Amino acid sequence: MSWFGRKAAPSAVERLQSEWRCVGCDGVHHGLLDLAAFAPDPWPGDDRREENSDLRLDGDFLSEDFCVIDGCYFFVRGVLEIPVHGFAEKFGFGCWSTLSRPNFDKYVDGFDGGNFADWGPWSGWLGNQLADYIGTDPEALWVYPQADRQRPTFRVQDPEHPLAIDQEEGITPERLLEIFEQYGHGPAS
Ligand SMILES: [Zn+2]
Repeated sequence: MSWFGRKAAPSAVERLQSEWRCVGCDGVHHGLLDLAAFAPDPWPGDDRREENSDLRLDGDFLSEDFCVIDGCYFFVRGVLEIPVHGFAEKFGFGCWSTLSRPNFDKYVDGFDGGNFADWGPWSGWLGNQLADYIGTDPEALWVYPQADRQRPTFRVQDPEHPLAIDQEEGITPERLLEIFEQYGHGPAS
């Protein structure tokens, strides 16, 4: 077999463009696959979600956008976005942040109409470990509610944190492939 004329291996950008078959989960992904945490890490329940409209504040509750643990910890689902060099879209980590009870109430009140009593940012604590960025130490976030029923966006508060720097400056597509790999996803070579 000759290597003459063999095509160069596709770059990370080429591999992530359009549709790609995943060697990890055997699915087909489109572009920058968003990764999402099902619930905050401390969620004590099982893998069922209730409807947003059934929200209960006294005990444990999980829906697509709200989570309450023990009637005293209030979480909202949002997205931590990271720009990727060479791509117009951003990569999104879907994850959860705590809010104080007053801010959680504001979020819930404005959720259906997409209009909030104030637009923050609200302070919260990240409720998930994220790849090799975030371990089990608590990390403070800014929570930005969004118009038009888009999920809130999260930013790491500490400007020196590697994830805050990447949110600001963006990452290479090669780095994104590393992150995917930590979650068991990767394009076929
Ligand atoms: Zn996959």
